[in-house]
Amino acid sequence: METYSCNFCGYCYDPAKGEPRLSLAPGQDFACLPEDWCCPECGASRRLFASASAMRRMAEECQDGGCEPTCDIPCF
Ligand SMILES: [Zn+2]
Repeated sequence: METYSCNFCGYCYDPAKGEPRLSLAPGQDFACLPEDWCCPECGASRRLFASASAMRRMAEECQDGGCEPTCDIPCF
């Protein structure tokens, strides 16, 4: 299972750990979270979360100069 990060505050949802603050038991895949689930840190919608592999891919594109100027994903 993949971890998902909030694009706003950087909070990371790790399915292996779950999220006790939201009564999420370990083992809940991000894809299985309810549609109205949001970030426990900043309240961002789950649509603003990106998987760890997507973040890596976007970071690589940024380094290649393929990043749009409007890209709101931080470049590493
Ligand atoms: Zn957040």
